[in-house]
Amino acid sequence: MPQLWDLPAPEAGFAERPNAAGLDALDLKALAATLGEPAWRGDQLFDGLYRQRWTRWEQFSSLSKALRTRLAAEVDLAWPSIVQSQISEDGSTKHVFELVDGKQVEGVFMPYADRVTLCLSSQVGCAMGCTFCATGQMGIVRNLTAAEIAGQVVAMLNHHDHPAGHPVNLVFMGMGEPLHNLDHLMAAFDVLTDPKGLAIPPRRITVSTSGLVSGIERLGTFARRPRLALSLNATTDDRRSRIMPVNRVWNLDALAGALAAFPLQSGERITLEYVLLKGVTDTLEDGRRLAAFARHFPAKVNLIPFNPHEGSGFEPPDEARVSALCRLLVDAGQPVSVRRSRGQDVAGACGQLVREGQRRGQPKEL
Ligand code: SAH
Ligand code: SF4
Repeated sequence: MPQLWDLPAPEAGFAERPNAAGLDALDLKALAATLGEPAWRGDQLFDGLYRQRWTRWEQFSSLSKALRTRLAAEVDLAWPSIVQSQISEDGSTKHVFELVDGKQVEGVFMPYADRVTLCLSSQVGCAMGCTFCATGQMGIVRNLTAAEIAGQVVAMLNHHDHPAGHPVNLVFMGMGEPLHNLDHLMAAFDVLTDPKGLAIPPRRITVSTSGLVSGIERLGTFARRPRLALSLNATTDDRRSRIMPVNRVWNLDALAGALAAFPLQSGERITLEYVLLKGVTDTLEDGRRLAAFARHFPAKVNLIPFNPHEGSGFEPPDEARVSALCRLLVDAGQPVSVRRSRGQDVAGACGQLVREGQRRGQPKEL
């Protein structure tokens, strides 16, 4: 029987007018040509969109008033809009984005001393059906476009008045399975990393997958690509297949093989995310098997205590167990960190805020 993720995820409907948001340098030159403008106008559009982060045509002061008026009449500048923002006690802010068709996704802005990390969504919903995940319970609604992926970054940086040049990390750990939407993801990656625009270095971008081996293999063929994280989350095929249906197609052996074959740059490591579910994935035997799995390739482990949500049926692990597993991995010589879930008090883990919004009615703006 074909699995849901064997099928292409539904795409956004076509708008009648062109949308400049999310277009790369070449497409913006082509857009300029359709307006009868020289190619270098495309460069000005690129600069305005991604270096200045302008979101309305009237802001494009580098263009003549006549051209701005024409653009406003003929070309959309449609980024996702922030419709709800919740500030967490730890300083992170969770945002709900509304897309042109009214669908919603989430992103998180996490400021640190030396950088800001943005957690991004890649799809509305998700086809992978992991049993512990709020997004998984929604099923797949549709892929995000490149504009909607890159637009989460533009919207969050603008919302927080983020100064250009201050380091930005991106992690695709919000809603959706990024490798199930690889074409749009890579189109957004090209725009986000372009040195003439937002200029986010590829090594600062991490894509997290549930273990879609076909996608891992394809990602490995790109010369410029983001870093890879795998949501391992269980250490036996039996357990993993029960909480992550994708494991019934690509099991732990297949995953270890694909990750060992993934072409890494010198010093690059694959992140292994491991969600700790009390009594399900958090035994000391799990810790030992996790350390053994991580020896197949250069890896760093990230332990993630489960973030509870209504109706999941899972519980977070005891604090003492988290520490014991962390120590076990350190003793095994394995680089390890524990994710102290940021934004937990505002329903931090992926999919939870949108789901709560749907339950309570429309979320309201801050
Ligand atoms: N679909 C991709 C990326 C989005 S999920 C993937 O699965 O990797 C990002 C991370 O959040 C994954 O590691 C997932 O296992 C984890 N996650 C999902 N629900 C969670 C929850 N309720 N508590 C803690 N982590 C969760
Ligand atoms: Fe999808 Fe990731 Fe959630 Fe699994 S954990 S359902 S792959 S978003």
